[in-house]
Amino acid sequence: MNRRDGNRQPETDTAFDVIVIGSGFGGMYMLHRLRSLGMSARVYEVADDVGGTWYWNRYPGARCDIESMQYSYSFSEGLEQEWSWSEKYASQPEILDYARHVADRFDLRRDIRFQTRVTTASFDERDDRWVVETDRGDRVTGRYLVSAVGCLSAANLPAFAGMQDCQVPILHTGRWPHEGFDFTGLRVGVIGTGSSAIQSIPVIARDAEAVVVFQRTPNYAVPARNAPMNPDYERGIKANYADFRALARTRMPAFLFQYDKRSALELSPPERERHYEDYWRRGGLGFLGAFSDLLLNQESNDSIAEFVRGKIRSVVKDPEVAQLLSPDNVFGCKRLCVDSGYYDTFNLPHVDLVDVSETPIQYFTETGLVVADQRYDFDVIVCATGFAAMTGSLDRIRITGRKGMTLKDKWRSGPRTYLGLMSAGFPNFFTVTGPGSPSVLANMMPAIEQHVDWIAHCFTRLDDAGARTIEPLAVSENAWIGHVNEVANESLRSTCSSWYVGANIPGRPRVFMPYIGGFPAYLDRCNAETETSYAGFAIDGDTALAPPRVYPWTTRWNLATPT
Ligand code: NAP
Repeated sequence: MNRRDGNRQPETDTAFDVIVIGSGFGGMYMLHRLRSLGMSARVYEVADDVGGTWYWNRYPGARCDIESMQYSYSFSEGLEQEWSWSEKYASQPEILDYARHVADRFDLRRDIRFQTRVTTASFDERDDRWVVETDRGDRVTGRYLVSAVGCLSAANLPAFAGMQDCQVPILHTGRWPHEGFDFTGLRVGVIGTGSSAIQSIPVIARDAEAVVVFQRTPNYAVPARNAPMNPDYERGIKANYADFRALARTRMPAFLFQYDKRSALELSPPERERHYEDYWRRGGLGFLGAFSDLLLNQESNDSIAEFVRGKIRSVVKDPEVAQLLSPDNVFGCKRLCVDSGYYDTFNLPHVDLVDVSETPIQYFTETGLVVADQRYDFDVIVCATGFAAMTGSLDRIRITGRKGMTLKDKWRSGPRTYLGLMSAGFPNFFTVTGPGSPSVLANMMPAIEQHVDWIAHCFTRLDDAGARTIEPLAVSENAWIGHVNEVANESLRSTCSSWYVGANIPGRPRVFMPYIGGFPAYLDRCNAETETSYAGFAIDGDTALAPPRVYPWTTRWNLATPT
């Protein structure tokens, strides 16, 4: 057994104010806020420590693609000032250290039960409480249930024929062994060419004897341009961190980057080329900010896509390999990847690329796999095959709302939420960065903090009024889903088979899951609900709420003193 909660006794018949599922950054902050409200909480976590995504994704090369100074909590000035990041983009071990530091600093672990999976959660309509059961025999109740299970936490390991008889280790990037894996002198097969593969392949190739990459769809990758943290830059931000964060919240993805408001078509082709070069030199996800219409106008998008394909051709020496690595879909339609030497890795004599778009992997053998009747033998196979995004982890829990309806059934044709915060028929059940909120299209940290503060504020208001339940009105939920779809359809992002639409896994409903309207517009909608005492929700039949006392996130994007 691991070190935490390995031998604890099950907890039964204990009543909490709130049960929280997950102790990644969402669950940790939720717990902290609940304590500040004097509410009792139990958090359940499958892993043996905090960190969520950053606990599991320990593959070589894993690092954040949002600047560390922005990918961090803003709720505590003390924390903000005392923590120093060593690089512009923090690596996974450093982010996990940060999560652990937060857990220590705020003494979070004492309310978290580790190595415990929530199996069922049922709303008991007789006393308006959630009954939660775990795989460790716990059976507890909570007035509220909060899911902080993360958006990319349910690993997708495709069921290749013969996989169970394969004798070589099969690793998944999202479930990496804690002790690490030494690739020195080994023959490695890598399946997938998404962000995880693009980050890990160059690092794996440094040690391996041979690497074969199996690619179903090529991805666009932009150089990360990571660097050691510039102390002057850090000092400058820390001198005025609140304003820096506030400004970031006015941006569509809730992080700051160089953004050009012009259309790509306003510039002549040579000017545009120079402009792209400038953004390419800067690197990172901000490359998508080169013009304002890159995801709205096909012609503008074609111009940036061709620029990047040109870069691939200029780096990759073998024209056939360069061609294979060059996507022909909309630039930025799938999540943009950032890389450090990815394309160059394919110039190495021991790295090969195999196209499995037309001829998929047929089956696994005891020592490898077969594609187009050709056999490949390996010492280890790395599946960088992604996640059942946005809903995968919730699907694994039997969540039952009113009248015996399960969330999985309700979401069978795609997730249905109001503001990504709640789903009609599931009273007092909240999702942090759930589908229908900006979540994966935003900087996850402010997205989490805004959700948690909204939820915490809602608890206070309900308590003040003595209200027992809250849930969205069906009409609000339907209207919100209509709006989420409408804005998605305006974007070129909805045009390809990405995990945003669940298309990476056969059989999943094809629905654009995150809210693409931008963080500021979303914040306005959430604030409107707070201001109108939750007009879009049903509260305990007809309980009247007092007007808001303290407003957690003002429309001027400042985080006021928490209630
Ligand atoms: P992903 O983007 O979904 O990539 C999975 C890859 O596996 C794709 O290339 C996919 O091909 C391939 N694949 C899946 N099933 C396959 C099959 N049966 N046969 C062959 N290929 C198969 O997953 P990910 O790379 O783990 O990234 C997921 C998300 O996590 C990212 O988009 C990002 O939001 C986040 N992430 C961020 C970072 C970072 O830089 N901070 C790093 C890693 C992950 P298709 O494209 O054809 O489906």
